[in-house]
Amino acid sequence: MNLQDSISCIKGVGEKKCRILNNMGVETVDDMLHLFPRKYEDRREISYIMEAPFNKDVLVKGRVAARQYRGNPYNKKTPLRILVQDGSADMEVLFFNGRYLADYFNVGCEYTFFGKITLNNGRRQMAHPEFHRLGDKDDERGIFPVYPLTEGITQANMRKIIKSILPLASQAEEWLPDKIAKESNLCSPAYALTNIHFPKDERQIKEARYRMVFEELLILQTGLFYIKKGRSNIRKGIVIAENISVENYTDRLPFELTEGQKRVWEEVQKDMASVRPMNRLIQGDVGSGKTAVAELAIYKTAKAGYQSAMMAPTELLAKQHFVSLKRDLEPLGLNVDLLCSSLKAREKQEVLERLSSGKTDIIVGTHSIIQPEVAFKALGLVITDEQHRFGVNQRSLLAEKGDTPNILVMTATPIPRTLAVILYGDLDISVIDTMPPGRKPVRTYLRNNDSRDNVYDFVHNEVKAGRQAYVVAPLIEESENIDCRSAEEIYKELSQRFPDVSVGLVHGAMKQNEKDSVMESFASGETDILVSTVVIEVGIDVSNATVMVIENCERFGLAQLHQLRGRVGRGKAQSYCILLCGHESEIANKRNKIMCKSSDGFAIAEEDLKLRGPGEIFGTRQHGLPELNISDLIRHVDILEDVKKVAADIIDKDPLICLPEHDQLRRKVKRMFGEKIELKL
Ligand code: ADP
Ligand code: MG
Repeated sequence: MNLQDSISCIKGVGEKKCRILNNMGVETVDDMLHLFPRKYEDRREISYIMEAPFNKDVLVKGRVAARQYRGNPYNKKTPLRILVQDGSADMEVLFFNGRYLADYFNVGCEYTFFGKITLNNGRRQMAHPEFHRLGDKDDERGIFPVYPLTEGITQANMRKIIKSILPLASQAEEWLPDKIAKESNLCSPAYALTNIHFPKDERQIKEARYRMVFEELLILQTGLFYIKKGRSNIRKGIVIAENISVENYTDRLPFELTEGQKRVWEEVQKDMASVRPMNRLIQGDVGSGKTAVAELAIYKTAKAGYQSAMMAPTELLAKQHFVSLKRDLEPLGLNVDLLCSSLKAREKQEVLERLSSGKTDIIVGTHSIIQPEVAFKALGLVITDEQHRFGVNQRSLLAEKGDTPNILVMTATPIPRTLAVILYGDLDISVIDTMPPGRKPVRTYLRNNDSRDNVYDFVHNEVKAGRQAYVVAPLIEESENIDCRSAEEIYKELSQRFPDVSVGLVHGAMKQNEKDSVMESFASGETDILVSTVVIEVGIDVSNATVMVIENCERFGLAQLHQLRGRVGRGKAQSYCILLCGHESEIANKRNKIMCKSSDGFAIAEEDLKLRGPGEIFGTRQHGLPELNISDLIRHVDILEDVKKVAADIIDKDPLICLPEHDQLRRKVKRMFGEKIELKL
């Protein structure tokens, strides 16, 4: 057998397991060896119950002293309880719904148990441990891999299969140029593949994982640099002469651009004037004024005789953009059109005709503007708003409707620089780091449920004073299993309590047109209080709204809380954000403190990175990046720094990745990116 053989050659992998593994993306023996453990169980040493730390996996050995010794044995819901003693202390082993296991445990016999000990009313307990009868064949000491599983495959299956093919790992050859492997202190692939599965100690785990993470990030980064380089070599983009004046636009603006806006606009103008097409990301906190920069770019593009397209993730946002673009640009003689699925067939046809004949200067829409029937006369600029909702693919589909138009991406999701560089590896990045003057920071308060009545009295007062309010809840409807407020419950409660104001409800399970009409009624001021789930998170702009109440705020992440708070504080009046905490926890308290202290999105994002578990923040899938197997853009940001230098050297020396020494690398880049991004490799 060798690495390229199908997994069906492995003994113990029958037709059924083969199919399950195929579904996990595993075809060959080599793939199987690249199915890495999620974590390890350290079962090298036996601890005494008395000395074992709480809440950490430990292995203990003990004698069963009693079985089902408390609780009503006739009640089916009573868990199986086993009293275990090891001479140092007692512990109770618990199996909920585990009474079928009772016969396995004989009083007086010794077993090993692997799991976490917790302290419950002074009693040591271990729930659902792994267990073996002492001396059983499979009761082994060592470090054991824990694999990701899917239905139909058990942990024991996985361990057995991997163990049986482990000797083949030694066939894995070094595929990186020697120089790179040496300078980056990488262990060999054979060593890494062997020891990542069944390591003897922590050092082996570390070396093996470092190699594998390095490898994967190098392939990713090299691919991204290749794409970026390829783009920068295109020398036939649309050129918008630098000296075209935009004074007519700026003269009409009721304000002066901020320093940040001016700087970013300079960068955008330079890009547009270059023969190389623009690929720029504008990052700016909510309310920093990204739209003005986009409008400048649209206006200038139109004056040069080209059309612009703006794509937003929801119909509501598209409509809002449509209204403001019309307001700002029509007086300057530009024609703005909206394309979305709610248009009637005839209206849509008219829009399409105006677009292809060149009458329309700017088209705003949702995904509908990447449909095949949409054609432009001369598309010069593509703008996507809130880009974290779009993949690389959708962006390029829109761009393909023109002859390499300029691309501008706008996002309010603050992303720390190190990460932005990789997440948007194919884009140049500009940051609007100033806020328009006179903005009053949103006052943020933390309250617990005892103050709910007061909080809602306050909301009521604000509404009576002519303002509007948002109330956000984590759930749509009440749930027996989760103890927190639901939008429906709050909606009912507030409607009853304040019959003199108008309360609206919007959540993700409603139909699109229902959602739209509720949101429109709030935007027009008809609705005073909008109760919702997080559907309002993205971009809606109602400057008369001054209060944001977030129920069960402990259920939201920092970035989300910040986005939600960004919905208020958009007008001249003082705004408020009230965090209602249902259940305190250490992490929730930290988040709340940061929210009360800081209003800077980037600072909050950095804190978020520190607080949250790795991998939770940016799903790579949303960004259209290839899926990663072992590496994590956040946890491995240090390795990423090392990798970046190496990848930059590779692309400098070999921009097309065609040197023989990069033969394998090219193959791996191609495999990782697949059809996601067109690679002419
Ligand atoms: P975002 O970056 O969140 O998209 P917007 O572009 O919607 O922000 O701008 C938010 C509000 O700030 C808008 O009402 C806009 O008119 C206003 N604004 C933008 N730039 C300035 C500025 N330089 N001075 C004052 N107000 C501004
Ligand atoms: Mg915006």
